Amino acid sequence: MTRITSLTTRDIRARTSRFLDGSDAAHADPDYSAAYAILHTDHVDGLEGQGFTFTIGRGNELCCAAIEAMAHHVVGRDLADITGDMAGFWRSVTSDSQLRWLGPEKGVIHLAVAALVNAVWDLWAKQQGVPVWKLVCDLTPEQFVGCIDFRYLSDALSRDEALDLLRAAAPGKAARTAQLHTDGYPAYITSAGWLGYPETKVRELCRELYADGWRSFKTKVGISVADDRRRCEIMREELGDDVQLMVDANQVWDVPQAIEWMRQLDGFNLRWIEEPTSPDDILGHAEIRRALAPHGIRVATGEHVANRVVFKQMLQAGSIDYLQADACRVGGLNEVLAILLLAAKFDIPVCPHAGGLGLCEYVQHISAIDYIAVSASLDDRTTEYASHLHEHFVDPAIVRDGRYLLPGAPGYSANLHTASVAALTFPTGSEWR
Ligand SMILES: [Mg+2]
Repeated sequence: MTRITSLTTRDIRARTSRFLDGSDAAHADPDYSAAYAILHTDHVDGLEGQGFTFTIGRGNELCCAAIEAMAHHVVGRDLADITGDMAGFWRSVTSDSQLRWLGPEKGVIHLAVAALVNAVWDLWAKQQGVPVWKLVCDLTPEQFVGCIDFRYLSDALSRDEALDLLRAAAPGKAARTAQLHTDGYPAYITSAGWLGYPETKVRELCRELYADGWRSFKTKVGISVADDRRRCEIMREELGDDVQLMVDANQVWDVPQAIEWMRQLDGFNLRWIEEPTSPDDILGHAEIRRALAPHGIRVATGEHVANRVVFKQMLQAGSIDYLQADACRVGGLNEVLAILLLAAKFDIPVCPHAGGLGLCEYVQHISAIDYIAVSASLDDRTTEYASHLHEHFVDPAIVRDGRYLLPGAPGYSANLHTASVAALTFPTGSEWR
């Protein structure tokens, strides 16, 4: 028996704004941050569950406060009671009769749910001695759907349909696992294309990353058409025509503006435009998708989509070609599993959002789960990768030749080095003094 005895939080922030790492059209100076939930237990060897949600600096303390406000949902509980009814646990946290007024299922309170829920999965996987992806992939279809709250989904995906999808994917699980062990999971890289980088730096990074085996790249756009054309030219000059190239506007456009702007970037063989407009604009995304289809430019979004209900409607409305779920934006792994099943039902590839502080560490598990247990497909799927801040993690994501290697350590890859915690704690750590 493992009892959760207390919950603490940590406000972790990296001063990435110094180098404009992570800069885009909407977020000029991000300080990549994480609000951590740490579940302490009565285990003799000090077993802890660690989970986080991602922010970009100011307001990270609000997420810590929201996590602390949910402590009563876990403290004093036996882990087996929680994991024995994961859907019920998730419903209890997201439907707290008072806290739900702050959302429901969106904003700071839902970011906090992600941290708490991810910490529970980390604790469960560490207790079982396996990485989270393996814990999930070894669940039976019945146990898998037992982690999902199907409320608000059943008009698009019923529990029985989810079971059928998982049963259909079951036969090849061992072979796909072996394949990922050998080949890794295909990824793309964002690190050459931050909007604040000068041309010389973009060129240098393109050359370095190409030499390292990367064949799929993304750049930020959205300040000026002329600058965006120039940046696409530079990247095509450095990378050639065979490399995948995507662009990301981080929500800065109106719908007609997005269509007009992207028509002016025709000719660069762009795979997708990411976040062309408000993440809440389901029908606007559908209109952009219809308008850009004749140009061969497809639409991707998801890092700011708050929950499975919005994703459901995007899939029903035909709004997206690629679904970019975020491990910390929606309510932790339980909701991510629901979204993977929805995407499989609608046959839309999931290319999870990453980068950030620790998001790559999370999405490597999510993409492995998607391939092994849910979609059983790698077709047109690439998972985001950004190359900074991994040095702070005890079990960092590892990429080779543009592919994520399967993580092997028990848990959800969230633990930070002790020295990193000391340095990055806001506002007392050495990073901030
Ligand atoms: Mg993005």
